[in-house]
Amino acid sequence: MAKFEVNYVKNNNIPVTLTSLDKLLNWGTSNSLWAMTYGLACCAIEMMASGASRYDFDRFGTIFRASPRQSDVMIVAGTVTKKHAEFVRRLYDQMPEPKWVISMGSCANTGGMFNTYATVQGVDRIIPVDIYLPGCAPRPETLQYAVMVLQQYIRSKKAIQSPTKKRLI
Ligand code: SF4
Repeated sequence: MAKFEVNYVKNNNIPVTLTSLDKLLNWGTSNSLWAMTYGLACCAIEMMASGASRYDFDRFGTIFRASPRQSDVMIVAGTVTKKHAEFVRRLYDQMPEPKWVISMGSCANTGGMFNTYATVQGVDRIIPVDIYLPGCAPRPETLQYAVMVLQQYIRSKKAIQSPTKKRLI
């Protein structure tokens, strides 16, 4: 039987990695941001395209979930009607901490062109938003960039801390 001994010290290749607990936890969290699908209107088509083969969200560890209890980030893509606002809030409350929200497109940000009695004039009137994506509709690249910004933000913070909500973009 062939015998091969690896001399790690001689090869300057010791199989040990040193890091802090914060970095390790943040690394895990930031690379597994499961997204709760919340497609409400045309912006949702761009969100769906982000998960398809051309843009491939899975590369970032961002996998779309259909349950708030398995989700880390809620992507609100589209027009939020007042009739629907109650459900947005309820699903947000069912997500475990830590959680983040991306408001995708002008309608989710401000109500967009729908300045009517039936439309919520910005989803941040119901839930705290971390990142706002401008545009009608934002491209999949924009959504991917938002997730990368969110990853950087998570990596820059302490892993365990009391949640303080603030706007990133
Ligand atoms: S911002 Fe534009 S693309 Fe997005 S939901 Fe509103 S009208 Fe549709």
